[in-house]
Amino acid sequence: MTRSESSLLKQLNLGLFLFFHPQSPAALFRNPYRLVNNLVARVLNAGLRLQDRLRPEPRVACSLCGWQGRRFGYWAAVSANQLLPDQLCFRCGSTAQTRVLVKLFEQHLPAAKTKPAVLEIGPSPATRQYFAQHPELCYVAVDRFKWVDVRCDATHIALRSRTIDAFICSNVLEHIPDDRQALSELYRILKPDGIGIIVVPQTKGLTKSHRVRDTTFLGYGHIWEYGDDFAQRIKEVGYAVQAAHTWDTDSGPTPVRWGPFYLVRRPADG
Ligand SMILES: [Zn+2]
Repeated sequence: MTRSESSLLKQLNLGLFLFFHPQSPAALFRNPYRLVNNLVARVLNAGLRLQDRLRPEPRVACSLCGWQGRRFGYWAAVSANQLLPDQLCFRCGSTAQTRVLVKLFEQHLPAAKTKPAVLEIGPSPATRQYFAQHPELCYVAVDRFKWVDVRCDATHIALRSRTIDAFICSNVLEHIPDDRQALSELYRILKPDGIGIIVVPQTKGLTKSHRVRDTTFLGYGHIWEYGDDFAQRIKEVGYAVQAAHTWDTDSGPTPVRWGPFYLVRRPADG
């Protein structure tokens, strides 16, 4: 086999891997529901943008980037195969869930003598953009795949113990086989009295969290379905669960309830 044939084979392998990987962006196009929802969202959003241009009437504002408009845009929720109105910021791409997450973070960030160190695991482009506008914080983005500050697995975070003042872990744990190890790693790097905000999709009425097989061709890579025992799973690692906030949104007329936002703290003597 020549060198160019070998290189072509490698690229083909990579392409196939990216297409079939459950967390690949290609997942958006494999599932017909998601594909249709995405296309419909684009058409409806183009209509909203046109309305904003023709008759500007700011009624909502994005708390992350300051964008103002008549309504937030439609968003095709990947995991629920749903098309949700009043979600998407047309400038920074944040969803309502991200805006609530950041609001909670701002309210609960502990006072630090020096620049507070903030870690986000599996960051979204919108939160990265938000933190880039806040140089008073020392922000570290961690992920396995994306272009980030520290590239590592959530179960082995390449940072020293007790160095982080706060972390954000949104829609990550449900993709990790050893989710307890990931929670323990976040606990290890957190300073005593440091806080974290954890969000996972949670099924109401499900008493016990369990493993699922959703890493199929049409799936979206969930390994865990969490139930009402999720708070207990967090506590078992050592965290104190301060609060479980439910939906409180700036999204306008169509609020949607997601799983609770768990505010956790490492005890001062922990
Ligand atoms: Zn925005």
